[in-house]
Order: sequence, then C-alpha cells, then structure tokens
Amino acid sequence: MKTSEEKRAYGRAYWKNLTPDERAHKTAVRHAYFANMTPERRARHRAYQLRYLKTRPPEKIEDRKAYQRQAMNRRRQDPVYMAGFKAYYKEWMTSAKEHCINMYSNGEACCAWCPQSDIDVLCLDHIDEGQTKAFTEKYGHRGGKFLFAKLRQMDYPPGFQVLCSNCNLKKEILRRRTALVKTC
Ligand SMILES: [Zn+2]
Repeated sequence: MKTSEEKRAYGRAYWKNLTPDERAHKTAVRHAYFANMTPERRARHRAYQLRYLKTRPPEKIEDRKAYQRQAMNRRRQDPVYMAGFKAYYKEWMTSAKEHCINMYSNGEACCAWCPQSDIDVLCLDHIDEGQTKAFTEKYGHRGGKFLFAKLRQMDYPPGFQVLCSNCNLKKEILRRRTALVKTC
C-alpha cells in the first residue's frame, strides 16, 4: 500500500515523462469533460465536492487554498496563459449578454417598448424597482456584464425585461414624474 506522498510523487513523475503533445491532449480531454457536462451532472459534481470538503480537517483546506493562490500567481506571470484567459473571458462575457438579451425578450432580441434591436444599446431592466433593491442587496450586481453572468448562472430568474437605453431612460423619467406627483 503506497502512502499518499508516494502516490503524489508517482503522479508527478508520470506527468513529467509525458511529451508536450500528450500533456496537451490530456488537458484537452479534461476540459472537454467539464465543458460538456449537463447542468444536473455539474450540480451533482459540485455537491460531491462540497460533501468531501466538509470531511477535511481545516488546516488541509487552508493548505489547499494557499496552493491554489500560488498556482494562480504563477499563471498570472505567464503571458501566453493570460492572453488566452483574457480572450476566453471576453468571449464568455459577450455571450452572457447575448444569452440574457435573448432569454428575456423571448428570442426576439428587441426592446419591449419600441422596435430597437441593436444589441449594443439594448440592456436589461428590472421590471419592479422594489425587486431591484432586493436583488442588488442579495447579489451585489445592479447591472453590467457581471449581472448578465450572474443571471446566466442562476438560470434566468424572472423579474427582468429587455429595453433599449432610450426606453430605459424614459421609464426612469416617468417613474420620477409619478413619484413627484405622489409627494406633492
Ligand atoms: Zn426601446
């Protein structure tokens, strides 16, 4: 029976003996496995990881976090990695906006008040102002690309609609006007 240290040494030696092509292939297979997971499968995987983490002693978890921080810092020094990461991140964020706009306009990708359909000027609008506050307090994103990413992660909860910038401004003007009338 090998100890965990021996197993790790074996794993490291194995990885070192591979040719760069073999390493790239193994990495690609691993990435594809995660990229092609269904949402249910990913949730099961995540639940398993969380259950496993709970059985670990706290100092082991701290070790792991320190190791991950180190690995991340090492990767940040690598210009090739960073260029790839930035490209991936940009594409992921752009697609998050496209997905959100399509989901909240029922696939029409068009303003709910007017026929504007230029995605550059379309944005998401919280239908109810009270919900906005609750949502922002809970998740910290009032708008922007982080909101799109968050909504995609949450599988598009209701409460949003697609408006163009003009109609969004118009809605705000109407809201303030009615608020003024009420307080007078
Ligand atoms: Zn509009």
